[in-house]
Amino acid sequence: MTARGRGAVPRRVASRKGVMAEAAAPRAEVIAACRALTRFGLAHGTSGNVSVRLDERRFLISPTGVAYDSLRPGDIPLVSLAGRWFGRLPPSSEWRFHRDIYGARPEVGAIVHTHSRQATALACTGRGIPAFHYMVAAAGGADIRCAPYHTFGTQALSDAAVTALKDRSACLLANHGVIAVGRDARAALKLAGEVENLAVQYCAALALGGVRLLDEAEMSRVLEKFRTYGTLEAADPELEFGGARLARAAKASR
Ligand code: 13P
Ligand code: ZN
Repeated sequence: MTARGRGAVPRRVASRKGVMAEAAAPRAEVIAACRALTRFGLAHGTSGNVSVRLDERRFLISPTGVAYDSLRPGDIPLVSLAGRWFGRLPPSSEWRFHRDIYGARPEVGAIVHTHSRQATALACTGRGIPAFHYMVAAAGGADIRCAPYHTFGTQALSDAAVTALKDRSACLLANHGVIAVGRDARAALKLAGEVENLAVQYCAALALGGVRLLDEAEMSRVLEKFRTYGTLEAADPELEFGGARLARAAKASR
């Protein structure tokens, strides 16, 4: 991170032939993810933002204050990790935390920020999400932290977000919302939806009272199972594979 990049207003880069034509697929990915936020009920108005990494130095991000359903590929600004931007519209006011997360986390390919309802309600009490349900492990650890409040778009908010995301792929932002990261926009979006679902469940459990938390050993077991969940490797060894035989029998009975 350069001294000029950190906290500075991003400098607009002079027009360069081909820049807007570059990266059609990630531009479409940003727009599709923005629209999905509205469709999934995770965004209201122009709240939230989405970015997709282009390479180790640059990312594409939703423009600031623009309705998601009006976005066109040429509206998606490109921002460098040094804090320069190119495009016809200025980048999201939260470009700093997008930049700093990409800078700190080489494995992150996309970032989704939302003000989804229940997660934001929870964050307005200063609470994160503890291990009340095993699915909390979907964010990479035994809890989902809540970063302290700082004004939107500031370097202080970015610093707090990067800290709250340490060893995690999601965090809450006090009195503000949620950040979810992933290897691509689909993964970040899926996690943002999962965080909202967990927040709905946790708020309901809090209202009932007597929430029972899972202990560290159990969360470690879940995290280990999540390493292969949804893959062939995860197949239960007590289940006998008979695919080919069953398929033949089904065909014969037709
Ligand atoms: P932008 O429209 O600038 O992305 O701001 C929305 C937001 O959620 C700020 O935190
Ligand atoms: Zn926000």
